[in-house]
Amino acid sequence: MPDSQKISEKQSEYMNLIAEIMDIRKRGEKPVAYIRTYGCQQNVADSEKIKGMLEQSGFEFADEPDNADFILFNTCAVREHAEDRVFGNVGALKNLKRKHPQILIALCGCMMEQEHIANRIYKSFPFVGLVFGTHSLHHFPELMYNALLDGKRVFERGNDDNLLYEGFPVKRDGTFKGWLPIMYGCNNFCTYCVVPYVRGRERSREKNIIVSEAKNMIESGYKDITLLGQNVNSYGKGLSEKVNFSQLLREVDSIDGDYWLRFMTSHPKDCSKELIDAIASGTHISKHLHLPFQCGSDRVLKAMNRHYDRRKYLEIINYAKEKIDGLSLTSDIIVGFPGETYEDFKETLSLIREVEFTSLFTFIFSPRVGTPAAKMDDPIPAEEKSKWFRELLDVQEEIAAKRCSSMVGKTEKVLIESENDKNGELCGRTSGNIIVELEGSKDCIGTFKNVKITKARNWILKGELVK
Ligand code: SAH
Ligand code: SF4
Repeated sequence: MPDSQKISEKQSEYMNLIAEIMDIRKRGEKPVAYIRTYGCQQNVADSEKIKGMLEQSGFEFADEPDNADFILFNTCAVREHAEDRVFGNVGALKNLKRKHPQILIALCGCMMEQEHIANRIYKSFPFVGLVFGTHSLHHFPELMYNALLDGKRVFERGNDDNLLYEGFPVKRDGTFKGWLPIMYGCNNFCTYCVVPYVRGRERSREKNIIVSEAKNMIESGYKDITLLGQNVNSYGKGLSEKVNFSQLLREVDSIDGDYWLRFMTSHPKDCSKELIDAIASGTHISKHLHLPFQCGSDRVLKAMNRHYDRRKYLEIINYAKEKIDGLSLTSDIIVGFPGETYEDFKETLSLIREVEFTSLFTFIFSPRVGTPAAKMDDPIPAEEKSKWFRELLDVQEEIAAKRCSSMVGKTEKVLIESENDKNGELCGRTSGNIIVELEGSKDCIGTFKNVKITKARNWILKGELVK
């Protein structure tokens, strides 16, 4: 029996034991869990696994923590702001624990893999009973059982066996839009980034497991599936089967059905022409490429350890624009990396003008403990960085407005996702991931509709259903 199967079976036994404990405590009533997820889609996918394990342990889920028996925050360490929010929100649980001492309060995720954070939680938040890092996710039932058993605090982190675990239940949040992890960890060590330290080395799931999970999702009605990894372009390394990301993408794309296939994140250093060709010729692959460039200046890119330059980035972008009709491009940008000057920053502005992205995820540099960039000289004051940041947003707003205006009059296939509580309008997304608002019945949610674009308001489109 493979190791990972043995582990999932052992953890299943712990799920049964948790169910027994909770059954006695709740006198037959169903126990309730409240899970809050911070950060990226990888964290959302991890939380969906935790929910799967909790469901198997008999739990129901609540939208508020007030009446929960188990509260878990799945945390993010990528920027300081995310960490501050976690500390604030955990502090707010103190009264709840005082009122209901039986509640088990737990923290997990990237922040908990950092020793200084786990120590701070241990000292300053004594009402937190369970802490585990990303490497301990697949021992969660065992850890939770131990914390429930005698009320002793359980803290587990840094247990990096670099294994990959299969066979665990997943309870997805969405019914038509879903995440499908294809790999975990990262080997790139961009100098600003904490991810490789808290999520460990890159490891890919086997192709057949991914393809069969995608098939199941499509058969159960998923319309928008995103393949997830920190650097999907290096998928396949270390697997016994010789396979790369473009091949995986083509194979998932060959599954019959009416769905969109997306992926993130691509790293420009590994983004191949083969991948662009796969998108161009795909049946279900959305015409959307999220390709973070971080900064337009070669000097800064080098200091970031990104292994590509502006010329190479633009070469891929231009190839993609040429091959993929109606391509929508998005990116991540960091403003104010240590040593970045206004001249460097202007190169970021000129790059976004040249590429014309539909939207951007923009961040001000946040020093992360243990990363090389946190020790670099950083002479530019925070107010100055904020000024550059606002300038970036203004320029992008202009570009997005222009990009969106050029779509007015066209008919787009749109996946209707939700209804706006305030005005009753429906909200959906195009294949390029652009938001479209329109009038229509709630029954359309979760289905594809053809929508004529009638107006553009900055980066949001307005449209009407094509009869
Ligand atoms: N693996 C993905 C992104 C992971 S983190 C990639 O390489 O593209 C998501 C984004 O957060 C990054 O692309 C970067 O723009 C931003 N980010 C990461 N560390 C940061 C830091 N220390 N300060 C500010 N932004 C950061
Ligand atoms: Fe972080 Fe770079 Fe890895 Fe992305 S590729 S997760 S930015 S180290």
